[in-house]
Amino acid sequence: MLIIGSHVGFTKDSQLLGSLEQALSYGANAFMLYTGAPQNTIRYKIEDDLTKKAIKKMQEVGFDINNVIVHAPYIINLANNKNEEQYNFSINFLINECKRCEELGIKKMVLHPGSHVGLSVDVGIVNIVNALNKILSCVDTVILLETMAGKGTEIGSLEEIAKIIDMVKFKDRIGVCLDTCHLSDFGYDISNFDVVIEKLKSLNLLDKVGCIHVNDSKNPIGSHKDRHENLGFGYIPYEALLNVIYNKIFEDVPKILETPWIDGVAPYKEEIMAIKNKCFDKDLKENIKKGIDIP
Ligand code: FE
Ligand code: FE
Ligand code: ZN
Repeated sequence: MLIIGSHVGFTKDSQLLGSLEQALSYGANAFMLYTGAPQNTIRYKIEDDLTKKAIKKMQEVGFDINNVIVHAPYIINLANNKNEEQYNFSINFLINECKRCEELGIKKMVLHPGSHVGLSVDVGIVNIVNALNKILSCVDTVILLETMAGKGTEIGSLEEIAKIIDMVKFKDRIGVCLDTCHLSDFGYDISNFDVVIEKLKSLNLLDKVGCIHVNDSKNPIGSHKDRHENLGFGYIPYEALLNVIYNKIFEDVPKILETPWIDGVAPYKEEIMAIKNKCFDKDLKENIKKGIDIP
């Protein structure tokens, strides 16, 4: 069965229940959320009764909570320890974030590995590994390291993620999140996804894939830019994205859209519909702009 969803909101007042309702309105059977603003570390209390209501609703509609994923805020950087206070803050913040996942009944958290900012890749990797070992010794969450576009001093090629995973002590709770925009921007050809799969195999990462972010890219292969585009409107062929989404190897892995909103409107209902129809909707942007709902 296709497991597809998108990034959804998570507000103070509706929390997991609101996120679930949003996902259901998109026709999704998976979703990803930030438990607060992605660009800061301010976090409000998780309200137990809203979580209970959400879990009850999931049971009623047959929504598998294993297909719900949290994304850690992207300002967290575990690769750089020049500022020790900052580095320790990041570790403690993530321990707390994992505890919030546990409160919400969510098992998987996606994390950007980090940027070494002038240290070296090797030092950055050691910093990430030490931090992950500390975090994973305190919580039960599965942490999925996201493949990155290679912007600036970002760590997050498949090789680098394989190295990190190799050094992390808690092997059953560390994995990888593939992002098609980031992979393409890094230099992997999504049209030749078999090559990516072979690469994953050779790095022992194939059974470590716990989430796939499905995004098109506004830039050509190898641009190292990281600017997402709606599926079929960028440089990755729509067929290539469908091939990732419907790949048998990743059938049980949640696929999450993080494509840009169009004129302040989330495009996910329409994009998910097109994916289910296996057909590129060239009018998607125009129709959303005009406020036309697909039947
Ligand atoms: Fe991400
Ligand atoms: Fe992503
Ligand atoms: Zn991105």
